[in-house]
Amino acid sequence: MNDEELRVHFEELKKELDGKIDDEQLMKELNTYLNEYRVTAEAAKRGIKRKYGADGSSSFMTADTISKKIEELKGTEMNVDITAKAVYVDRKQITVRGTPKTIVSGILGDETGTAPFTIWEGENVNLEKGRVYLFKNAYTKLWNDRVQINLGSRGKVEMAEGVRVDVPERTVAMESTEIKIGDIKEGSGNVTVTGRIISVEERNITVKGEPKIVYSGIMADDSGKIQFSAWNDYGLKEGETVCVKNAYIRAWRGIPQLNLGDKCEVNRVDDSFGEITLSASKKTIADIISIGGGLDLSVTGTIVDLRAGSGLIWRCPECNRSVLNGECTTHGKVEPIADLRMKLILDDGTGAISAMVNRQDTERLTGVTLEAAEGLAKARGDSEMVAKEIAGIMMMKMVTFTGNVLSDDFGPMMIVSKAVIEDIDVTAEAEKLYNEVEAAL
Ligand SMILES: [Zn+2]
Repeated sequence: MNDEELRVHFEELKKELDGKIDDEQLMKELNTYLNEYRVTAEAAKRGIKRKYGADGSSSFMTADTISKKIEELKGTEMNVDITAKAVYVDRKQITVRGTPKTIVSGILGDETGTAPFTIWEGENVNLEKGRVYLFKNAYTKLWNDRVQINLGSRGKVEMAEGVRVDVPERTVAMESTEIKIGDIKEGSGNVTVTGRIISVEERNITVKGEPKIVYSGIMADDSGKIQFSAWNDYGLKEGETVCVKNAYIRAWRGIPQLNLGDKCEVNRVDDSFGEITLSASKKTIADIISIGGGLDLSVTGTIVDLRAGSGLIWRCPECNRSVLNGECTTHGKVEPIADLRMKLILDDGTGAISAMVNRQDTERLTGVTLEAAEGLAKARGDSEMVAKEIAGIMMMKMVTFTGNVLSDDFGPMMIVSKAVIEDIDVTAEAEKLYNEVEAAL
């Protein structure tokens, strides 16, 4: 940087710092940042302002953005800059409305703490574990009492060169808490779990161009089951019981997963579970909402609504996604295949979740077959009739649904694998209610 440029930045800073630092010291600081740390002029100015107490004072906010330490994040920030070290980085392909998308997620850490992050436009983002980055125009959300840092299309991530961030070891390797599998949720962090290996398989994957074997499967205890991935070969075998120390919990669409990474310790232990019932874990909807999702859960509740997209729908023969007017967003004009499904809202008094019921169960529960639905739609010239017919049959029915629960922006959704209509004894229920009312008087 030439002297003239330096002078411009100097004058600007001097004005903003308003006497908090003398000219000589300011010039020295600028020189250190620009020529020693070799950061951008913007980063240098931010660093100096933060150092001399200008941070947090409204006159130093630029474009409504402020810089915060991780500990200061509240989960409600709309526009915040965060300089922190990438403690853990992961890339995933997801599909949003039929379009493949890359997201980069992981854990950020600074002197004050750690927080998970997600970069939603991750195509051209290459973060390296252990390096310090500036997350510009990030926003934050609270999820299970933990702050999540998000970077959307307005945000930007850049390398914070020369900036040193010391993440205390204790926050990276957070104390490992002993936990039952059924209590594990996103944000549980570092855990110690004892469980039986129900299944395990080897998968060959590629990490940074290198072939790697990952051992994944299902582990269970008497409170529930969870998917695990082991990144080293611990010789895990079906049927044995292990105590896993320092495993890390990450969630994919709300479903917590147990990761056995480099810091993990695996020991064979005596199995104290006896018979583990592999049937689904019974949950209340409030439990499911607080955990965010999970494998093979079971809830009983009342059907209170049938959402749009229920009844007779059409799918693309290529990709199976539902299509409107015979037009697939990926495959264009197609000859669609008719299908039947229900998107129900189930309420159990503790909360409500969505539940997706496939054709087979829809036919069985409603008695309306796909053939009949097509016939009805044709006869009335309106496929909405099918949804109305189904709603008439299903509304206010009490059901027990079992399946995996995923979470997205619309909240938790169960993909129902087993659906049972509960026969309620109306007289007994009425009597129970009457007794409760009477007892309350
Ligand atoms: Zn398609």
